[in-house]
Amino acid sequence: MSQGQDDHSTPHGNVSKPTSGVRRGNVQRVLEALRLGGPSSQAALARRTDLSRATVNSIVKKLRAEGVAEVYPVNGRETLVALVSTSAAVISVQVNVGAVRAALFDLGSRTRTDAYVPLGDGAQGGDPGLVTDLVRSLAGQASLQMQDLAGIAVGMQAPISRDTGIISSWARLQLPSWTDVPVAASLTDALGVPVVAENDANLAALAEWTWGAGQGSADFLYVMCAGGVGGGLVIDGRIYRGADGLAGEIGHMVLETSGPVCFCGSRGCLTTFVSERSILAALDASGSSRKNLREVVAGARKGDPACRRVLYEAGRHLGRAFANTAKLMAPSVIAVGGVLSEAGPLLFDSIQSSVEVHSLRAVSPSLRFTAARLGDDATLLGGAALVLAETGQGLSTLPGWARSRATVQKSNSSARNR
Ligand SMILES: [Zn+2]
Repeated sequence: MSQGQDDHSTPHGNVSKPTSGVRRGNVQRVLEALRLGGPSSQAALARRTDLSRATVNSIVKKLRAEGVAEVYPVNGRETLVALVSTSAAVISVQVNVGAVRAALFDLGSRTRTDAYVPLGDGAQGGDPGLVTDLVRSLAGQASLQMQDLAGIAVGMQAPISRDTGIISSWARLQLPSWTDVPVAASLTDALGVPVVAENDANLAALAEWTWGAGQGSADFLYVMCAGGVGGGLVIDGRIYRGADGLAGEIGHMVLETSGPVCFCGSRGCLTTFVSERSILAALDASGSSRKNLREVVAGARKGDPACRRVLYEAGRHLGRAFANTAKLMAPSVIAVGGVLSEAGPLLFDSIQSSVEVHSLRAVSPSLRFTAARLGDDATLLGGAALVLAETGQGLSTLPGWARSRATVQKSNSSARNR
């Protein structure tokens, strides 16, 4: 999946127009090596990029002058080069069925500002106007003009077609106001700043690869198990989107051909066994009802046998799906995010035993399963990671200020009136 050095297409696709900051040639090679390998000595950078020490040295000088990289000593003798961004400002937006969230990461002032718009019935997913209002409002709060932004990322709770930039047909019922809207192109036109649009689980996968559970792994699969089941693949540091942007939809892998009907139109998809709704339905049938997945996890921790059983079965199905995926993709790390992953060993032990039943160890002896680390912030952080990567920047480590959320809740109407 790695791109040849002459391939100047944008690495993640779906950018509506090229950003002025897209790097070329040797500088791009050094930036990519830093992004993939983390902080590195100049000798290691020269080896990984096939460039001379002198060329690497002059590129590092240039990147330091631009405030994109820094050099710091370790062990008193060696020095490492790391990615730092000291001036960019990025807005990341997350469009869910029930709410729209946004965060402004201002790397110059080292501040983060969040906004949250809950959506009532009939307003699922908001609409493009709500997103542009929210972006302008966040920039205004930070006294920034639109042109001060390096870029904007929008994570949609839907797969997005790589060709048309439109959400997939099966998601239109859930996000009705985005039907037939080319997400990135229409928001770029409205805001005058380059906007990238991406599936929310893909962004979460990129964040976990960049700063979380997948850091340092070449090939990484992230699976989010919460209300629904989403997945994202990061291969050689890039979101793998497939022919039409639908890659990584592990939630619709068919596990039982005569299983329950799925909203995608198939039967027995992973989603029909491990989504919140299916787990709650299984408990309802047992007479041991719970209101949400978090209560199921809490019940299992307290020893409730029915809650433990449904988590055990969810792990068994996940293990089967992971074994099938890993036999094809051979990732080095699979991370599970979302509320389900909070069950810890109650879930991961049954994933492990299911994986053994499916003989995965024969083909992937070193594959590691782990809980994701960035929680429900992963999608917004992934948007920031994507914009930084698209504009030839990066952050080797996630600073503490970028994790602390101070959320301003906006009502739908007040966001619209700005
Ligand atoms: Zn399905």
